[in-house]
Formats: sequence, structure tokens, C-alpha cells
Amino acid sequence: MRMTKFLVRTLRDDPADADVDSHRLLVRAGYIRKVAAGVYSWLPLGQRVLRKVEQIVRDEMDATGAQELTLPIAQPLELWEKSGRDKTYGPLMFRLEDRKETGFCLAPTAEEVITSTVANELSSYRDLPMNLYQINWKYRDELRPRFGLLRAREFLMKDAYSFHTDVEDLRVTYKEMYDAYHKIFTRCGLTFRPVEGEAGEIGGDINHEFMAVAAVGEDDFVWCKSCDYAANVEVAKRQPAQAMPSENESQQQPTRVHTPDMPGIAAVAQHLGESEDVLLKSFAFDADGEMGLALVPGDREVNEFALARAIAPKKLRVFDDNDFAAHPELPKGYIGPHHPSVAVVVADPSIRADHPWVTGANEVDHHITDMWCDRDFTVGIWADIASIQSGDECPQCGKALSVDRGIEVGQVFEIGTKYSTALGATFVDADGVSHPMVMGCYGVGISRTVAAITEEHHDDKGIAWPASVAPFDVHLVALAGKGAAAEEVRTAADALYRDLRAHGIDVLYDDRDASPGVKFADADLIGIPVQLTVGAKGLARGVVERKLRASGERDDIAADGVVAAIR
Ligand code: ATP
Ligand code: MG
Repeated sequence: MRMTKFLVRTLRDDPADADVDSHRLLVRAGYIRKVAAGVYSWLPLGQRVLRKVEQIVRDEMDATGAQELTLPIAQPLELWEKSGRDKTYGPLMFRLEDRKETGFCLAPTAEEVITSTVANELSSYRDLPMNLYQINWKYRDELRPRFGLLRAREFLMKDAYSFHTDVEDLRVTYKEMYDAYHKIFTRCGLTFRPVEGEAGEIGGDINHEFMAVAAVGEDDFVWCKSCDYAANVEVAKRQPAQAMPSENESQQQPTRVHTPDMPGIAAVAQHLGESEDVLLKSFAFDADGEMGLALVPGDREVNEFALARAIAPKKLRVFDDNDFAAHPELPKGYIGPHHPSVAVVVADPSIRADHPWVTGANEVDHHITDMWCDRDFTVGIWADIASIQSGDECPQCGKALSVDRGIEVGQVFEIGTKYSTALGATFVDADGVSHPMVMGCYGVGISRTVAAITEEHHDDKGIAWPASVAPFDVHLVALAGKGAAAEEVRTAADALYRDLRAHGIDVLYDDRDASPGVKFADADLIGIPVQLTVGAKGLARGVVERKLRASGERDDIAADGVVAAIR
């Protein structure tokens, strides 16, 4: 493609409304343009990347035997009334009416439509399993559309839905989809981890979110760079802390110290000249009417989800100001675990450490030093309730864990029979008995993935696409200039352009009458993996200069051997 004929206008300045790199760079480099909040046009460059990602997804879906179809974007609300989701989706749904005032919505997802389609087409156990997918635009009137393509109101999604006779059969397809997602995001050049979500209410419903590691992600998660361990912060574990018996128990008795106006860990630690991790953090809660304390080292937070699991079936309610007002014997900021009114003490195993603790004295402006676990306070329930920090040991391999943010680029989900029951997708088994089909659903945010790839693959000059999704293979720059050799350079570059294309190599050819500085800056901004420069000096030596966008590596290749070198 000749740039003189191509719709690409790079912008010198960042768009004012862009607060993440992917949004900023995709607009500046001429891939997308905003039309309304969370709604974008995909210019030809952007379209090419979108198609590349789409094709990777399609290849991997097809490889599993899933079948592609297209479902409508305009969906009758009636279907959503049957599943009850017209209510639960609420204002997230774009709604419209036709001329007869029949309610429609713009597809936010397609469980209802696919299930009613399957209900009409399939009826026997012999028809199952069946896995169907589409790649189509989705619409969600997000409360806060932001971060460009990452949280848009119109976005491209691959959504697959599988139908089964039973859960065992569903699990086979679920695993195939899980593996396909691994291949998809690997081919897209993303650093990612599948993270298991919390099991649904009924239990047994498995789901995994595929998280691309990115500082701008909206979800915290814990992962290991050395192995495949990854988990949501709520369920993440670390190598269990060694439960060390207190052999060195000193004769030193607990000592009350004055800590005026110091309800915070940091201030007390500083005042006593201690590090924060020898202070005991006591976190007050209510468990079905009983008062409880959760204990973690002072440099950690309490993982409330883990705490809730530890006290189940009792229900956790974190103390609020009213609770503290009702319990003056436990002054906020000065709580210690040694008070008789505390009924439940839950502690992280790290509290068994071989050193004494500094705790609150249960008296305003006072703490106590030299408090030993088991000697001066006791613990009822031991559970991993301390928040995970970067550097903690991986529960699988022992290497350092990382706590990072992730972008959810895909999700695999066991649905069960919710939609098949609501929309009548039943099958008859070998004995002639009718059952609702068991379903799974599997989404990939294709446009979001384009943004996630940009987040991972860019530098201060622009985007640096992985070859698998780049809009072109080669960015050819002709430096014809105005000198005597201008014609020769142009002729050589034109010939090279034709030659590369004849060999199936996609080329963006900068044949514009612009300065070298502008051309190189645009090439770096647009981010095609290989840049080739044809100039008078090189031609005099019989070479073309090659630069790899991502690494910046440069070399000269013989002008008559370019095609072979690129391939
Ligand atoms: P989120 O939690 O980010 O709102 P979700 O869990 O509601 O997403 P799903 O219903 O699982 O999203 O949709 C499947 C995929 O579609 C997601 O994994 C994500 O990649 C993509 N997606 C969802 N919402 C958006 C959006 N507003 N903009 C771009 N992509 C989106
Ligand atoms: Mg999701």
C-alpha cells in the first residue's frame, strides 16, 4: 500500500481525552478515531490489525471443531424477558423500539439468541455436543466508557456457546476452549495468565478469566513468572508460612507503652523504632453476633474473602463505626487480641513467627510490646488470611510471586442449564426422557485484545506490533529527496515494493514527499515490525537498511537479496 494513497494521518499531539497508552497511540498513529464516547471508527490501519486478531481467534476456534455463525445484533427484548436478564442487565443495555413499538436491544452478548436458535434446531442427544461461535459487535452502555478500546460501548467480541448432555461432556469442550485461548493469546504476543474465578453460588460452575498483564488493567491478580500459577487476589495463596514454635521465648513480660495519638501501624513502628512487620494488625469483625479479631502482620492487609471463608458458615461483617461505638473496650487503632470479650480469633500462620509482637493495649494511646503468640494471646482459627505481596513465595514452585493488574481479554464459563431451561433448549436422551441442555460460554474481547497488545508492545516512540498482528509485514521508506539520485532511489524503491508484494509480503510504502525525520517518526509510531530504508547512500553501496522496530537493531542487506532476507 502506497502511503500517498492510503488513509492514514498521524497526529503530532496526544488526544486530550486519552489517559492510557493504547488509546493515545492508536489514535495518534491513525488506527482509530473516536465518534462518540466509547464508540470508534476503525481506519484502514486499525481494520487490518482487528482482522489479524480476528483471524487468529477464528483459526483456533475452527481447529477445535467449533462452527462459525452470525447472530443478529438487533435482538428482540422478548427473549431477554424469558431469561429475566432484561432486568438484570438494566441500563447497561442499549434499547430501541421498532415502528410497532416492539422492544429490541443491541446485543450486549448472545446467550438468549443462541439458546433459542438451538432450541429450534436440535432435539436429540445424538445432536450433541455442539459448539457454535460468532465474531460480532457487542453493545454495552458502560457507566464509564474509558481507556479507549479497553472499556468501549461498542466492541468486537468472539462469543462461543457449547451445548451438552451433561457436565462431564461440557468439561471436555471447556478444556478445549481453555487450551485454544492459550494458543490465541500466545499468538497475539501477550503476557497473560488464566485466573480461576470464584465458583458460583451453587458451586461446581468453573470459570476462568484470561488476564493480560498490564499496569492499566482494572483487576488485581497474583501470578508467578516462573510457573503457571495465577489467582485472583481474593483466593491467591502463598507458600504456607512456617509454623515456628516459640523456642526463644524470652523472659521479658508484656510491657505497656505510651503511644499518644498513634492509631496507625506506621506511626507506632516509627515511635518504637521497630519495623512494621512485628506489629500485630488486629482487624475487628462480627461473626453472626460474636465479636472476632483477625490477626496479620502490620505490613499486610486482611484478605476479607479468605477471612469470610475461614469463619464460614458464620457470616462476616466488618466492624463499622457503630460497632466500635458499641464496644468501647476495643478502641479503634489500639486493639489487642488479649481481650476476654473477643470470641473468635483468626490468625494468619505467619503470626506464629519466632518473635514477640507489638499489639494494641485495648486502651486509647497505648500499645503493648513483648506479646508472644500462645503465651499472651491465643488463636482459635489458623487460616491464610494475609494479603499476598509481590515477592511472596509461589505456592506451586516457591519462586517470587508478582501482584499486578490485568486486563480481562477473555473468559471461559460453565453456565449450566439457566438459559436452556428458560428458553426451552431440551434434548431427548436414549430412553426418550427430555432434559435441558448443559451449556458453556466462551468470550474473547477482540477489540480489547488489540488495545492490550498495544499496552504491552510500545515504547516512547510508538507501537511495536508483534508480527502476528501487525497491519503490514514491512514498512518501506524511500528517501528520494531532491538530489541527483532522487529518480534512481524512487525507481529502486518502487521495484522493491513490487517485488516484496509479488512474494506475498504486505508492505506499507512511504512514497510521500516528506522529510526523512517525518518518515522515520511515523514508521516508529505506526509500529510495523520491519522497516526498510532505500536511500542514495545505501544504493551506492548496493544495500538497503533494515531496522527491527521492537529491538531497534539495524543492519544492511544486499539490495538484490531483500525478499530472501525478509522471508
Ligand atoms: P468486564 O468485567 O471487563 O466488564 P465482562 O466480564 O462483563 O467484562 P464478558 O461478558 O465476560 O465481559 O465479555 C467477554 C469479553 O468481552 C471480556 O472478557 C472482554 O474481553 C470483552 N469486553 C467486555 N466488556 C467490554 C467493553 N466494555 N469493551 C471492550 N471489551 C469488552
Ligand atoms: Mg467476563
